[in-house]
Amino acid sequence: MDHSGPPSHSFVSELLRISSNLGESNSNSGLLSNSLAAAVSNVLSGLPNILNHNTVESLLIRDIGEDEFDGEGRPNQRRKSKSLRSVAATMGTISDVRALEHQTLKVPYEILNKKFRIAQKNIDREASHVQNSINDLEKAVKIQPSDEINKDPPVTVGKINELLMGVVNRLTVLKRKSIECMSEELEAVTVCKRRLEHLKEYCNRSVIAEQTHGAHPDTLELQDPYLANWKKQRMDRMLVDHCLRSGFYETAIQLARYSDIEPLTNIEIFLVCRDIEDSLTKHETSRCLLWCHDNRSKLRKIRSTLEFSLRQQEFIELVRTNQRLEAVKYAQKHFSTLEDIVGTSAQLELEQVMGLLACSPSTQIDRYRSFFDEKRWQNLVEQFRLENFKLYQLSNSSIFSITLQAGLSSLKTPQCYRKDGTRNSECPVCSELLNKLAVSLPCAHCSQSRLVCYMSGDPMNEHNQPMMLPNGYVYGEKALRRSAIANNGKVLCPRTQNTFDFKDAEKVFVM
Ligand SMILES: [Zn+2]
Repeated sequence: MDHSGPPSHSFVSELLRISSNLGESNSNSGLLSNSLAAAVSNVLSGLPNILNHNTVESLLIRDIGEDEFDGEGRPNQRRKSKSLRSVAATMGTISDVRALEHQTLKVPYEILNKKFRIAQKNIDREASHVQNSINDLEKAVKIQPSDEINKDPPVTVGKINELLMGVVNRLTVLKRKSIECMSEELEAVTVCKRRLEHLKEYCNRSVIAEQTHGAHPDTLELQDPYLANWKKQRMDRMLVDHCLRSGFYETAIQLARYSDIEPLTNIEIFLVCRDIEDSLTKHETSRCLLWCHDNRSKLRKIRSTLEFSLRQQEFIELVRTNQRLEAVKYAQKHFSTLEDIVGTSAQLELEQVMGLLACSPSTQIDRYRSFFDEKRWQNLVEQFRLENFKLYQLSNSSIFSITLQAGLSSLKTPQCYRKDGTRNSECPVCSELLNKLAVSLPCAHCSQSRLVCYMSGDPMNEHNQPMMLPNGYVYGEKALRRSAIANNGKVLCPRTQNTFDFKDAEKVFVM
């Protein structure tokens, strides 16, 4: 892939171009879908590489070109730092999107992919039906009444009419199915498109906001309410996802509706998931088996053993209810076809499971007793859930919890767990609830200490010099000055409750 051209948006616009073409023509649909797949994988695989040297450099050059002179034609002195900041803003937003939005794009793409494959199968089938009925017609027309060798009865107008009607019917079905498939695919494409536009808008607005306001990338949303709203929506999207994964479906649906982000979330997938999980907890396998059947080729690709586990469970249930003959028949029917898709570890399990035929459900032999455990149904639910995530390339834990953990760990220091119980009011990890959540997380690795003012929680640096009071305690200059202005030049040390003159505080130099 060549990255020397303009950055990621070329992939994005390529995808949009192809997806809007998809609506216009259905010929070469295989080709189109391939290039659509290529475009999406370009977008996704391109994201990690976007920050390579060439792209950053080309961004830099473009930005300098635009900012070269200020309003009065004088060379812009700030241009260099501004361009660098602009690159930082772009990099910031892109890495945001890269880290947090994989499933936003990947899930609808997988759905589109699946719909396309179903459509292809349907249309192929209908097209071959049309072909067959045309063949029948041609055969009938070729029969010559004068042909003496031919013993077939001569063809009648009624017969031809009937065959023609058959062709017309087949064609009508083909047309109807094509339209149905097309509209299904278009729906999926629209979802992809809408999500891409949502992400693109964020990137564009961040760069514009940075260029107009020259703010630090992290504070852009203060300048642009659109960005603030976008980030709030992203937070809501994460929460919806987290609620869905935790089983709070109603909460998730209501939040998505309230925050108007329904098309940007993957609620539908989780609802299908809920139905299947419910049926499994009721000890029913039919829905889940149907799901396996619908997703057979994909499941085979990820070497799924879900179907094997389900069949095994059905077999166990037959033994449990003492229908041993049925169990043998069931095994003959289903296990023989499963062997080739499951690995060798399953082979061993299969042998053990067949041993159940000689056991009663109340057996005390450990190896067999575990097969009769009711917990196996719960394991099936877990297995189904994980394989469903894998199918749509969803991560096993929610983006919300991953982000929260990463954030907490980047702020956590041993100071957040001081024995004396004092906590910094400005530190999120020091707040009561987050403090508990962060207990098991690693501390941030800081090669350089950051000095933080005990009074204000502000960092102490060249803009906020550390100052030592005569009792040896150190505070930030800003906090001391504020305190002095309010108290006629006196400052109160919050640790010892002593009062000093502000002018007695001395600058501290940290080497
Ligand atoms: Zn803390």
